[in-house]
Amino acid sequence: MPTYEYRCGRCNRVFETKMTIEEKKNTAVSCPDCHSKDVRQQLFGVSFSGKKKTDKNSSGGCCGGGPSCCG
Ligand SMILES: [Zn+2]
Repeated sequence: MPTYEYRCGRCNRVFETKMTIEEKKNTAVSCPDCHSKDVRQQLFGVSFSGKKKTDKNSSGGCCGGGPSCCG
């Protein structure tokens, strides 16, 4: 299950939440501290646990995004 990292626009707290892609579509994420819904996903904070690490991050040829991105 992917872990998504968010930053709260109100209190600036960074937090992580785990949910499936389906849940992410249907869930309004809110800050655990101030319960604001003014949160932004940190795009580079997505990590897929349980996936094998691919060591192709040496020279930045990859877009660093989705799973099919590096071909
Ligand atoms: Zn907050």
